[in-house]
Amino acid sequence: MSAPSDPTAAPTAPPDASADGAPAAGKQDFIRQIVRDDLASGKHAAIRTRFPPEPNGYLHIGHAKAICLDFGIAREFGGTCNLRLDDTNPAKEDPEYVQAIQDDVRWLGFDWHDLRHASDYFEVLYLAAEKLIRQGDAFVCDLSADEVRAYRGTLTEPGRNSPYRERGVDENLDLFRRMRAGEFPDGARTLRAKIDMASGNINLRDPALYRIKHVEHQNTGNDWPIYPMYDYAHSLSDAVEGITHSLCTLEFEDHRPLYDWCVARVDLAGSPELVKPLTDRGLPFEASRPRQIEFSRLNFNYLVMSKRKLMALVQDGLVDGWDDPRMPTLQGIRRRGYTPSALRLMVDRVGISKQNSLLDISILEGALRDDLDGAAPRRMAVIDPVKLVLTNLPESHEEQLVFANHPKDESFGERRVPFSRTLWIEREDFEEVPPKGFKRLTVGGDVRLRGAGIVRCDAVVKDADGRVVELHGTLDPDSRAGMEGANRKVKGTIHWVSAAHAVEAEVRLYDRLFSVADPDDDSDGKTYRDHLNPDSRRTVNGYVEPAAATAAPEQSFQFERLGYFVADRRDHTAARPVFNRSVTLRDTWAGKA
Ligand code: ATP
Ligand code: MG
Repeated sequence: MSAPSDPTAAPTAPPDASADGAPAAGKQDFIRQIVRDDLASGKHAAIRTRFPPEPNGYLHIGHAKAICLDFGIAREFGGTCNLRLDDTNPAKEDPEYVQAIQDDVRWLGFDWHDLRHASDYFEVLYLAAEKLIRQGDAFVCDLSADEVRAYRGTLTEPGRNSPYRERGVDENLDLFRRMRAGEFPDGARTLRAKIDMASGNINLRDPALYRIKHVEHQNTGNDWPIYPMYDYAHSLSDAVEGITHSLCTLEFEDHRPLYDWCVARVDLAGSPELVKPLTDRGLPFEASRPRQIEFSRLNFNYLVMSKRKLMALVQDGLVDGWDDPRMPTLQGIRRRGYTPSALRLMVDRVGISKQNSLLDISILEGALRDDLDGAAPRRMAVIDPVKLVLTNLPESHEEQLVFANHPKDESFGERRVPFSRTLWIEREDFEEVPPKGFKRLTVGGDVRLRGAGIVRCDAVVKDADGRVVELHGTLDPDSRAGMEGANRKVKGTIHWVSAAHAVEAEVRLYDRLFSVADPDDDSDGKTYRDHLNPDSRRTVNGYVEPAAATAAPEQSFQFERLGYFVADRRDHTAARPVFNRSVTLRDTWAGKA
């Protein structure tokens, strides 16, 4: 007898398809659910999101999550997404970062509806601030930064009103205009919102909206001696652009009441005069009441992700620049051989939640392996070479063996791999005194040479120091696939390249930059700099088959038995190949303490 409904049965996904049958149907996280509901209820006819990086550094793996959400959700639901450079802090910002941000977003597979800057709205934000002053919602405060801090109170104690809080509208307007005219030195005054110094949320205790800073700006030059603060600029920029869902990380949750306050009090939708500076410049605007929604930051163990620490690694020469393949910047992992699809896969697997956590780096590495397993053609390369001479072949022996480029996917086609009397094999595939269970080459033992037949090792040639310099073997001519002896059982298969045809290559063997799981943990008095993995990069000279040498920069391969490698996007040429190890075939850290 079977019960009508079995509570232990796996739940079936609810039938769900967006109007155009977009893939949004598949993903069920809480943000997509909100978007789905807002479209279904008619709250929004179309959605608009934005990705708002501050151009004060290079984007990292964490940003990839935000990019995949902001652009991905817009795409899935037939909406649009803007790229907005949040350039309100000119002292730390640089056009070099602006360019890199655009490159990285495109590389990840996304494109923006509009490219905007918070600085596009400086005039709008200024007019909006005058409106707040006229409404009695903002005042000019003469307290110094230290005094503001002292007046602010604490988590358990309310703050105190600034003595300047009750200034009249005319005086406030006059002072604010003179701030804008550049009459006062840095830090002399601020414009503050007039909200509630007793609020349990410190963000609402009359937060600063503008500060004085005589700094040249990359877009607006010396036009502005005052700059808007983050919460004010960000919320109103969202409103100006008609953003419907403003997705950000959890640390902004406590800022949401201020975000909502700014949007509501300024009411751009109801104040066309404020956006005149935009329409005068031909910039479209589409004021909205955006909704801020927070999600958890992406954090991985064995990495540091703060821009400040990444900057220090670069400036102190602990890595070779922002695109060092060990860096978690998008430029770095791109050079390491990460693919955009591997990153998107990782973001999908990690999902979205409201719980911050430190994820295991194996999730990132696993996504790359899974992506490249299907996407990377196979090649042979030998990175710690020793010669193997097949003494029963004539000196002149040379043939082209046909290899499939991918074991599971015929569409990758085939290639010719030259084979001759003298091969390079991996030094570690030979043991004179084999440990128990050793399945590869040993004197008197057999091993299969991938695609070429079975070889028996007859002799070892050593140099004066006793180091193995050459192996001599006999190839069983009958043991290739399709031949009579093809099924003869041998324990192991090793890879090789033909010495006469192989191309010498520089191979950079990368590993994790830090040797401890939580390099940010400084509770034992050590900092992330004390935990750099001394073996995070080893450069060796190896040999690759010709069909690897001629790869285009950024082409990924699986070098059989060794791992996934990518032709370095800066240094690789066909004449002088340079390959970076992206990831090993298996997780070599698993089980390590
Ligand atoms: P930092 O504090 O190191 O400067 P940030 O978070 O301020 O970094 P922004 O350039 O302001 O960096 O970030 C742009 C967007 O990317 C923001 O919406 C932010 O929430 C998001 N973001 C940044 N870091 C992560 C992360 N680790 N995981 C998910 N999203 C992130
Ligand atoms: Mg920031």
